[in-house]
Amino acid sequence: MTHIRLNSLALGALALALLFGGPVVGQPKPVPGPIPAAPTSLKPPVAADGEIRVDQDKTVLSVMLAAKMPLKLAVMSKPDRVIVDLPEVNFQLAPDFGRKPSGLIRSARFGLFAPGRSRIVIELARPASPIAELGEVLGGAAYKLDLILEPISAEAFQRAVQASAPLEEAKKTDLPLAPQGDSRPVIVLDPGHGGIDNGATGFGQSLEKDVVLGFARELKAKLEEGGKYRVVMTRDRDVFVSLGDRVKTAQKSGAALFISIHADTLSAAPSVRGFTVYTGSEKASDAEAARLAEAENLSDQIAGADNEDESDEIAGILGDLTLRETRSYSHLFARTLVGQMSGGTKANKNPHRSARFRVLRAPDVPSVLLELGYLSSKADAEMMQDPAWRGQTASTIVAAVNNFMAPRMAVGGAPPPKP
Ligand SMILES: [Zn+2]
Repeated sequence: MTHIRLNSLALGALALALLFGGPVVGQPKPVPGPIPAAPTSLKPPVAADGEIRVDQDKTVLSVMLAAKMPLKLAVMSKPDRVIVDLPEVNFQLAPDFGRKPSGLIRSARFGLFAPGRSRIVIELARPASPIAELGEVLGGAAYKLDLILEPISAEAFQRAVQASAPLEEAKKTDLPLAPQGDSRPVIVLDPGHGGIDNGATGFGQSLEKDVVLGFARELKAKLEEGGKYRVVMTRDRDVFVSLGDRVKTAQKSGAALFISIHADTLSAAPSVRGFTVYTGSEKASDAEAARLAEAENLSDQIAGADNEDESDEIAGILGDLTLRETRSYSHLFARTLVGQMSGGTKANKNPHRSARFRVLRAPDVPSVLLELGYLSSKADAEMMQDPAWRGQTASTIVAAVNNFMAPRMAVGGAPPPKP
């Protein structure tokens, strides 16, 4: 068995990718550079049998892996987290695994962070130092990963954060772009969350990331049926995409419209129902919109990615004027969308709201964030899984897109008339 320890005495281990299962206990072999991605032709190994146990003052999180693999360990603060990066694995854990606090663990998340790379994020209840051990079990048929957390002082944890080598960012290249040589306008669909970021959890353990991906696929098919648009999805699988990369996909595709799709929860008020369309603004329209934007803006942090704020850079290059003009188009589309959707499905009390959503900050692409409904409402959660509702709602959104795009397409790419 090999292990790496992460504490104030052994911070050097942070900078290294370590190959587990080496011959000498306690002397893992350093592998320079990034963790190699699993070959795409092979199925990723399974990770199963998750377990969290409290052993006196320690807390141990264990997962069985079907193969030996290198991994990287890091700690981050605000909130205090332990992050484990590993090649892509197929997590087959109970849906509620890691959701409840236990010992030093407040919660634990698992998922794909970037193509070929998986991540475990443990949010800590108290500052702790992690040790990772990977031991062969069942005669080499599987490997048991133990993440052992020991309490340390807040000062020691801060020192570990300072010394922690930065983890790789989610891949910035290979953004999904519209095909070249096709002059039809591009609509970018952005299913929220994904991979290690589950988004909200609703009735029957339904996850926001799955509900919105299913809906976005349906909407893409319906938009493409008419043959008028090229449709680009910011993600088409269960993978994490940073908020910055979602915005960049819209910009680099030269998108005419960006629609981010979500399904929030409001656990304090499970009877609240209906869809809401949000536009970006510096000042929130109401407290509920501000709360939602704050929650959605945490996506990068939840995944353990750097939460860089690009707003200053954007303002410097393109100026407030472009953003203001674009936002008037975003408002126009939001009103059109609310009008179309209100005929067929239940609208929230105030269906058009605004707040400072980071994903709506492309200064040159009209952008809205559509909350399809509330996963915290049993009725909404069931409705969003109903194929008939999905098909019908996707059709009303296509109608709104057609209304918004018609003036632009009629004049051959000139901007639509001012709202
Ligand atoms: Zn969301």
